[in-house]
Amino acid sequence: MTTTPQTNATLAEIAEVLRTGDDFVICGHVSPDGDCLGSQLALHHALLALGKCSQCVLARDEPVEASLGFLPGIGDLVFAGAYDGPCGVFVGVDAPSRERIGEHASSIRDRCGVSVTVDHHASETTMCDYVYVDPDSASASILVWELVKLLVGKPSYESALCAYTGLVTDTGGFRYQNTNSVALNAAAELLEYGIDPSFVASETLMSRTLASLKLEERVIGRMQFVADGAGVLSWVCRDDLRELGAQKSDTEPLVNVLRSVRGVRVACMLREQDGSVRGSLRSKDDTDVAALARELGGGGHKAAAGLTLDMQLDEAVALMTLKMTEILA
Ligand code: 5GP
Ligand code: MN
Repeated sequence: MTTTPQTNATLAEIAEVLRTGDDFVICGHVSPDGDCLGSQLALHHALLALGKCSQCVLARDEPVEASLGFLPGIGDLVFAGAYDGPCGVFVGVDAPSRERIGEHASSIRDRCGVSVTVDHHASETTMCDYVYVDPDSASASILVWELVKLLVGKPSYESALCAYTGLVTDTGGFRYQNTNSVALNAAAELLEYGIDPSFVASETLMSRTLASLKLEERVIGRMQFVADGAGVLSWVCRDDLRELGAQKSDTEPLVNVLRSVRGVRVACMLREQDGSVRGSLRSKDDTDVAALARELGGGGHKAAAGLTLDMQLDEAVALMTLKMTEILA
């Protein structure tokens, strides 16, 4: 456990701050994943158990990924832009900065008297009064789990299920470089709360849509290797999604398909959007893809980062081919 220089409170101090609040708004990042939603809901259930008023909000007015529909309380989430309830304490989880929570949640944060961040993304900027960021933590959800235990003593099955889901999804089922003994000990502890790991794995990691597999076929067909096979890049365009009836979420697993190729150290998956291109970067060794993402306006973790490029798809492919060749040289 190494917290960032921006960290200014312990989880015990944050638990004290939360105990004094009555009304909570809990937010995560745009395009929420299992760790984001799992972290939000794990805390939400604990606050409700304490008799607090708690609302989880979505940074954008976008549907939650179907594979996370099993998370208890998922139906309670509302779009931050539509929220007009009380603003007491703002809690941002799995998101370090305002650009990651978007303008609507940022505005809620400004209306709240007290604000708290619990996260595992190293970032030079902060957005809250009380900040706890541990980049060594495999998921934000196991930091929230520690906080929840400090708050309620013995957390509920619902909190445990949400925290475990965040951990499983952010470690790719305990396969990525962020998997460590703290993560595995937390997993063992969470199972004691009645979690069925095969259920969580089959809902999240083994729940691909047919459209996603058809996209994979196109992505494999387009793979471009750089640096003698140490880097691989591919993409989906808007026509792919339209023709295959695929959703944005169907593209999420594809970067891992690229990364799984033997000999590949860095994988880059691009997705064409309206007027811009989303990029996902993954590394399989100690290449710092977050540094590359930051250089281009994005961010993330050393082995898993993302970015948005304001350009056409062909320009983005050329730029990323060049950048990957550089970092793998
Ligand atoms: P993904 O490729 O799954 O979208 O993102 C991988 C990791 O990078 C996640 O931890 C995510 O939070 C982070 N990330 C993705 N996109 C961005 C971005 O545009 N800015 C920052 N700061 N982080 C990002
Ligand atoms: Mn996370």
